[in-house]
Amino acid sequence: MSDCIFCKIVSGDIPSTGVYKDELVTAFRDINPAARTHILIIPNKHIDSVNLMIADDKPLVGHMFFVARELAAKEGISESGYRLIMNTNADGGQTVFHMHLHLLGGAPMKHPMG
Ligand code: 5GP
Ligand code: ZN
Repeated sequence: MSDCIFCKIVSGDIPSTGVYKDELVTAFRDINPAARTHILIIPNKHIDSVNLMIADDKPLVGHMFFVARELAAKEGISESGYRLIMNTNADGGQTVFHMHLHLLGGAPMKHPMG
């Protein structure tokens, strides 16, 4: 997707603070962090949102969560805890339409369900 900012981050056309990359995913720090640790884990291939995943993407999505777990350990927040979020479409608060997993942690967070 030529007009997608996250595709441009994957290709290196837009700079980012990268923390991890492999053949399936790229992870980088959020430009506007909502927590001390705020990392985005994204598929290297463009998928608009969770709604547009296909069955073949199941291993990829599992890998995104696995990488998030490894990065949480690297950030030193495994024991203190963290939150993994995928926002979807307007009501979910999605603003970038290249599917991504937020890894948030480093301090206690308000529970999203109140
Ligand atoms: P969403 O609101 O779609 O769940 O999350 C999009 C996230 O992407 C936001 O937290 C926002 O701060 C982050 N973001 C948007 N544009 C950029 C960018 O160009 N670079 C980085 N590193 N993060 C971005
Ligand atoms: Zn994209």
